[in-house]
Amino acid sequence: MTNTAQIQVKGVNKIFRTGDKEVVALRDIQLEIPEGQFVCLLGPSGCGKSTLLNAIAGFSLPTSGELIANGKAVTQPGPDRGMVFQEYALFPWMTVEHNIAFGLEIKGMSKGDIAARVSKLLSMLGLSDFRQRFPKDLSGGMRQRVAIARVLALDSPIMLMDEPFGALDALTRRNLQDELLRIWAELKKTIIFVTHSIEEAIYLADRIVVMTYRPGTVKKDLLIDMPRLRDPSSAEFNQL
Ligand code: ADP
Ligand code: MG
Repeated sequence: MTNTAQIQVKGVNKIFRTGDKEVVALRDIQLEIPEGQFVCLLGPSGCGKSTLLNAIAGFSLPTSGELIANGKAVTQPGPDRGMVFQEYALFPWMTVEHNIAFGLEIKGMSKGDIAARVSKLLSMLGLSDFRQRFPKDLSGGMRQRVAIARVLALDSPIMLMDEPFGALDALTRRNLQDELLRIWAELKKTIIFVTHSIEEAIYLADRIVVMTYRPGTVKKDLLIDMPRLRDPSSAEFNQL
């Protein structure tokens, strides 16, 4: 691997125009994220977190500036960048296992390979007993596990997560945070995790990028590198 960052955001601006109103949602954002880092994007509601994440995902391109992921300019969504949304966005008419398998069927993966990968993900996320259920028969935490498994199925090196645990109660959120840290350590993903919770950012991140109340800005001196005191891949992780 070269020492170029996996994600490069260079002088990115995003302006929304509705009628004669203009909203500057991103203002000259500069950011470099190395492979394997767990980055939390922290800031108050309306500061531009989702806009930046959607730009990196390729859902909504910047008005100006440059965005590079895995060495290529971002022009559209791609299989190298998986997105997990706050609302679970599962297919309600599909079972848990079918929700996870669906993207692989689209890719044309063989039935045997799909079954193997889906089983592994079901057990990794503690969903094995729920494989035949439909989303409406699951708790919020379980649905969000399915949403994570569905994105992991596609094996994207980069996972983009927009306040994925925002709607969950405190205990479920903590369980899923730990689960996510373990998965991140095992699968060596690069994660950009959006949150407006300082506590959540401190708990999860290698690095916290703070977006400010002045809409759309990230301050260079607010890139905080966090020491990781616990190794999520260690056996003691649960006990601490
Ligand atoms: P956050 O995710 O940090 O809460 P957003 O990125 O959703 O913030 O929004 C940043 C700013 O851009 C807000 O002022 C919001 O109202 C505005 N905005 C976001 N999306 C649109 C859109 N599609 N059209 C117009 N304005 C938008
Ligand atoms: Mg948002």
